[in-house]
Amino acid sequence: MAVPFVEDWDLVQTLGEGAYGEVQLAVNRRTEEAVAVKIVDMKRAAECPENIKKEICINKMLNHENVVKFYGHRREGATQYLFLEYCSGGELFDRIEPDIGMPEHEAQRFFQQLIAGVVYLHSMGITHRDLKPENLLLDERDTLKISDFGLATVFRHQGRERRLSRMCGTLPYVAPELLRRPEFRAEPVDVWACGVVLTAMLAGELPWDQPSDTCQEYSDWKEHKTYLPPWKKIDSAPLALLHKILMESPSARITIPDIKKDRWFSRPLKKGVKRAQGSSGGVCDSPGGFSKPVRSDMDFSPGKSVLGEDRAGYSTSQPELGTLWDSGANTIDRLVQGISFSQPARPEHMLLSSQLLGTPGSSQSPWQRLVKRMTRFFTKLDAEGSYRALREACEKMGYGWKKSCTNQVTISTTDRRNNQLLFKVSLVEMESKILVDFRLSKGDGLEFKRHFLKIKGKLSDIISTQKVWLPAT
Ligand code: ATP
Repeated sequence: MAVPFVEDWDLVQTLGEGAYGEVQLAVNRRTEEAVAVKIVDMKRAAECPENIKKEICINKMLNHENVVKFYGHRREGATQYLFLEYCSGGELFDRIEPDIGMPEHEAQRFFQQLIAGVVYLHSMGITHRDLKPENLLLDERDTLKISDFGLATVFRHQGRERRLSRMCGTLPYVAPELLRRPEFRAEPVDVWACGVVLTAMLAGELPWDQPSDTCQEYSDWKEHKTYLPPWKKIDSAPLALLHKILMESPSARITIPDIKKDRWFSRPLKKGVKRAQGSSGGVCDSPGGFSKPVRSDMDFSPGKSVLGEDRAGYSTSQPELGTLWDSGANTIDRLVQGISFSQPARPEHMLLSSQLLGTPGSSQSPWQRLVKRMTRFFTKLDAEGSYRALREACEKMGYGWKKSCTNQVTISTTDRRNNQLLFKVSLVEMESKILVDFRLSKGDGLEFKRHFLKIKGKLSDIISTQKVWLPAT
């Protein structure tokens, strides 16, 4: 997709894909500010142009530590650009190890931040309606940020609450009343989704396909069969909270003020969590500390600055909204307004070009701009060898295989719940090594990760375990 290119801003990497377009990372060459740009193709979104307008409108209302900040938007022909705070820590689901989850204290910290974000949204009269780990992003300090307001709506205006009737969300995360009732209250539905997210964080799996009586796992939960997975993996204190959240009747379901009083929720945080490997060490300086990916597939060991671990040399400056609007013509403003276009950006080249970001005055290397993600690995082979090995493994395992463009294939399958799963694999040459990068296009995030691990297991012979060093700039 040709993307207008604004003075000093480079589009360096695709961060993700959504139903109507993609999200790119834009970096300012001079100031090194980083912004996520959501690019929506209005032709693809043609059946509901109102949705994107609503998403923009809701984004404009919001400003909170646990909500992705919105810098502004711009329309160019059939394309809408939304400029958002860049979350370099990736998606929450990347911290969830399939079938295992994550350490309880990390889950507690993320859950507290999620609840803080939801409290704020509800105080503004907004319900998100699609809370799930794929829509919960992390910044460079691992602060959780609620993202993607594509399905959000206003449920309270001038103190008057309205009931909702539209069925929307993602089935494993939706509340039971949404499947049953013509009308339901908004807040308990978001609370329910937070409970499913907590279950995923603590057990590494989703509890059910959907909360209906036709679903055996849901009936088992209602009959308190907590000796079954995922519940048997969860400690009694968080499980007691889950009992109160995943309560079928919305009126009996725990409310957020009561969640805050819960024994597990309010338990003091574990102090002194060590920073992730490769960091300069020491005890964290944020209340919850830095957590690291549950399993890190890439051992970037540049000595110091990498992927936000060494924050000192890494400026993903995320100016506060106030500063942004006050300062008038600052750099992000110019990006939003689209002042001075030049050539279209070619992210795939920019990702590889160390000169581009390594221009004098810039300490930035493209390595540092790679979003932290565990679904990738380096191989010991060249590009052709890696491609062949991947293709052979995928075909043997029965995956659908389609070359989507140069250096990229689309792999398709169905997951354990029989839902379609599509993911893209890009082969990127970096410092004479081949990076095989998997990204989810459609389907459930945890299932995607299970398949990634299966394929990775099959390719273990060709995976490089060598440390990757930053090129000197
Ligand atoms: P969906 O079809 O899932 O609703 P969408 O078109 O609404 O997707 P988003 O969910 O907003 O798009 O973004 C798609 C992906 O892009 C996210 O899952 C995430 O990986 C990445 N992404 C989005 N916003 C940001 C951001 N601010 N910082 C970093 N990555 C981001």
